[in-house]
Amino acid sequence: MKVRVDKETCVGHGRCYEVAPEVFGEDERGHCLIVREEVPEKLAEQARYGADNCPEKAISIEE
Ligand code: SF4
Repeated sequence: MKVRVDKETCVGHGRCYEVAPEVFGEDERGHCLIVREEVPEKLAEQARYGADNCPEKAISIEE
């Protein structure tokens, strides 16, 4: 699984890295930084949860 964030769409609510801190982090402006672009199976559920929690739908997942 791979995760990506659309930097144009991300506005920095921080929901993704609050609920899925092992996959998503934050930059100095509070916007999403991907910690693991290539997500191991054990973190797949966390990655999906983080993406689902983004109000802007800025995170895309490639299974
Ligand atoms: S939840 Fe969405 S908008 Fe907020 S920081 Fe994460 S990717 Fe950006």
